[in-house]
Amino acid sequence: MPILEMVGLVKAYGGRRAVDDVSLALEAGEALALLGPSGSGKSTLLALITGLETPDAGDIRWEGRSLQGVPTHERGFGLMFQDYALFPHRDVGENVAFGLRHGQRLRRTRAQIERGVSEALALVGLAGFERRDVNTLSGGEQQRVALARALAPHPPLLMLDEPLGALDRALRERLLDEVRGILRRLGQTAIYVTHDQEEAFAVADRVAILRAGRVAQAGTPAEVYARPRSRFVAKFLGLHNILRGQVEQRNGQLTAVTPVGALPLAPGERAPAPGAAVSVVVRPEEVAAAVDGRGDLAGEVIEKSFRGSRNVVLLRVGPQELTVAFPAAQPLPAVGETLALRLGPGAVHVLPDGADD
Ligand code: ADP
Repeated sequence: MPILEMVGLVKAYGGRRAVDDVSLALEAGEALALLGPSGSGKSTLLALITGLETPDAGDIRWEGRSLQGVPTHERGFGLMFQDYALFPHRDVGENVAFGLRHGQRLRRTRAQIERGVSEALALVGLAGFERRDVNTLSGGEQQRVALARALAPHPPLLMLDEPLGALDRALRERLLDEVRGILRRLGQTAIYVTHDQEEAFAVADRVAILRAGRVAQAGTPAEVYARPRSRFVAKFLGLHNILRGQVEQRNGQLTAVTPVGALPLAPGERAPAPGAAVSVVVRPEEVAAAVDGRGDLAGEVIEKSFRGSRNVVLLRVGPQELTVAFPAAQPLPAVGETLALRLGPGAVHVLPDGADD
């Protein structure tokens, strides 16, 4: 049985639905990422779960019981924000102890609080930092203190709202690995809010992609990346090669006839019947340069951009532009020259809700 269930949640502000019929469930120990662009309803959903906002319709259940009417402090969920809001006049230990002293039903002795603080600090790699002034810490260390503060009371559910949003890329990646490790080690049930697809994929067991207050798609990171349902989800996950076409059976093979030619669909694709209009996505990592020059497609190189381990190349194929990634070591023709391309067997994927832009 799921530990947390959201059932048909609706929340509107001034007649506009910020959360629009959201149903999601979370198993104990699972980390769910809420992924979506700004304004898609992620924070509103968190506010409903914490009890800071009340749903207009629908219900939230914890261990099978409705949370309706249960005030925020009695829910006892942990929350960590991007602007960690540490108390500048208190030291690290007092900041972490705050979570143990306040908002909890459980009364703890001084010794229990001290033990809880040092355990939480050790967990985030800051053992012995109790008496440090928070103003002398780096951004990454402050963020760890905020995480320790949220974790110290052992919340049954931890919610992280863009926790790494304010950090630079290198630090964010390092902390992301740590956060994932900590959540897994603790078996912590968690909801992680982000607009960053890589962050969501890295940290979560499952992701729910939100669009205008609705769940556009939910599944494991591998599932949603392998089978995006719609153009919106595909684009949001960085899959920009989207073509419109028509399903046709050719030599026993289902194809999508597109402006760049007839493209064989990946095996196991659930395509509509021949004759139907479809949108397909062409995965950049499944497109290779044809060694013998005879490929499935040929395109003119418009732009090349070096990205370290790979070159990202923009090609004009007929009336369409396609983006393809090649290993950096592979020699490529100059801009303006033609490149023959071979499609891998899993290159072309049907978007079931293709018409939904
Ligand atoms: P996200 O967290 O994905 O950026 P939000 O949940 O903050 O999205 O916002 C979803 C929508 O609801 C936005 O259009 C936002 O302007 C609106 N909204 C959120 N909170 C309020 C509020 N307190 N009053 C009015 N509108 C709000």
